[in-house]
Amino acid sequence: MIQKIKDQLLSHVVTIGIGMVGALLLFVGKEVLPPVLPVLLGKMPSRAILALLALSIILNIALLVIVLLVRKQQRLKVMFGIYWDSDNVPHCPSCKSMLCNYDYYRSDYGGFGFYCIKCGKFVAIQDESGQNIPLPEALARLKA
Ligand SMILES: [Zn+2]
Repeated sequence: MIQKIKDQLLSHVVTIGIGMVGALLLFVGKEVLPPVLPVLLGKMPSRAILALLALSIILNIALLVIVLLVRKQQRLKVMFGIYWDSDNVPHCPSCKSMLCNYDYYRSDYGGFGFYCIKCGKFVAIQDESGQNIPLPEALARLKA
């Protein structure tokens, strides 16, 4: 239970961080800026203000691009009963951890599949009819 809550918190750490930064910016914007801004703007040359504005816009665009790239890399799709990333690397359907122990497992299902170390479970690759399919066939069908 505690592990599940921890995993949920870790998966939403970016959202929580953005929310906290947003709340801080809102507080600064409402409470601190009104008395300070006229004094600052009166003493700063307009070229410096424009340079800071341009720098801020460039940094925000760069940050947006980085966030979009990271989100695109982390996006998983479901195929054959398991998750796959954009590079067709399999991930566990329960914990979304990367799967790498592909082998023939006699226990449980008796077939080829993965063993998720984190969950301690056998994970089979299954087609639409529920039949186990080998990894090379799944990869070929993913690329098709
Ligand atoms: Zn797992």
